[in-house]
Amino acid sequence: MFCFQCEQTSNGKACTKYGVCGKTPQTSNLQDNLTSLLIELANSLKKNDKNTRLIIDGLFITITNVNFDDEFIKRYIENVKEHIDHDKKFDIKNIWETNEDIRSLKSLVLFGLKGIAAYAHHAYVLGYSDDEVNDFFYEALTSISKDLSINDLLTLVLKTGEINLKCMELLDKANTQTYGDPTPTKVSTTIEKGPFIVVTGHDLHDLELLLK
Ligand code: SF4
Repeated sequence: MFCFQCEQTSNGKACTKYGVCGKTPQTSNLQDNLTSLLIELANSLKKNDKNTRLIIDGLFITITNVNFDDEFIKRYIENVKEHIDHDKKFDIKNIWETNEDIRSLKSLVLFGLKGIAAYAHHAYVLGYSDDEVNDFFYEALTSISKDLSINDLLTLVLKTGEINLKCMELLDKANTQTYGDPTPTKVSTTIEKGPFIVVTGHDLHDLELLLK
């Protein structure tokens, strides 16, 4: 396995034997396979809701601690394969094994996209999406599979930041229009005996379903 996508990464370099987050080598390789296929899917340039959702949810799956269910990821991979209508193969190792400047810039875009996918996923489940954000997934995934110059990649990195802010705004709108503006609220700080279900600020829809 080779994973260096988050701040927990082993020795500040990369997890290569087992993820500090608990990700196994097998899960890591499946997630790399899925990421490669999502890049192939984006390259098919068939922009439609189904493919956009596959890309967004697929990238979200590969974020730290989101999904370590190998059987689920295998099924997801088969689903993505059915929507790829060309034989242009892409292997994510092409990025890891290239010149270090290009590798750094492409990784920055890819990891940024994963973060954007998390926001987009949570907005999507509340019925909110944005065409510019959705189009950027195709543009950026396609771009990192090509031979681009450092200057072109720098431009793409900056655009990744801009789209990230736009997607954060989208999620904020989705959350506040669905659940209202957050206000300071007193909560119990008593430490209870576990086990627990941990819900983050992203997961308001999941929390709503749990409460129901
Ligand atoms: S996501 Fe997990 S395996 Fe990847 S760098 Fe972070 S801690 Fe390591």
